[in-house]
Amino acid sequence: MNFLEERIQKDGIVKEGNVLKVDSFLNHQMDISLFEKMGEEFKRRFANAPINKILTIEASGIGIACIVAKYFDAPVVFAKKSKSINIDGEMYVAEVESFTHKCKNQVIVSKKFLGPDDHVLIIDDFLANGCALQGLISIVSNAGGTVEGIGIAIEKGFQSGGRTIRNLGYHLESLAIVDSMDAENGTITFREQ
Ligand code: 5GP
Repeated sequence: MNFLEERIQKDGIVKEGNVLKVDSFLNHQMDISLFEKMGEEFKRRFANAPINKILTIEASGIGIACIVAKYFDAPVVFAKKSKSINIDGEMYVAEVESFTHKCKNQVIVSKKFLGPDDHVLIIDDFLANGCALQGLISIVSNAGGTVEGIGIAIEKGFQSGGRTIRNLGYHLESLAIVDSMDAENGTITFREQ
């Protein structure tokens, strides 16, 4: 097991409805030493890509993205969730369905902060059905930028997102891939990588 899998095994809590709670170290309280190891690992895995921007989505991707950005010496842009349909043409927009909150959000990025010269590494905490990622990918593509890679902390391998995104040809790296989890006895199994 790698460092993240070990931490998930130790402190992750399996909830009903295929939800893994990692809020003691990843997306509520945040362990920055762990994030630094994640940044180092993403830098290793995307070493040859000419990345000049990190893109994530609020809220829980932001913390990880900021630490990862240090390793790439690149700025972070985060897509904002917006209920408003009052979009004034200054924004790229995508529709994203939230797996955990079961609602649809528009996500927006200002045209000022993403464009054709951008070589983007997309970072997020979780990959489940891939809806959040599809939204971010469409925003980069509308901006004329290039998705150089996608770095995910925890992929739920039993949901369809990972397969879909890899089949589209993207370089997707997940630090931990959960193959199965059981809310009754709390067991989590990881895919060998
Ligand atoms: P997707 O769009 O891939 O279905 O879901 C990705 C988003 O849903 C992530 O950004 C994350 O915030 C949230 N998410 C999905 N599954 C889980 C989970 O098991 N636990 C937690 N804490 N968040 C999740």
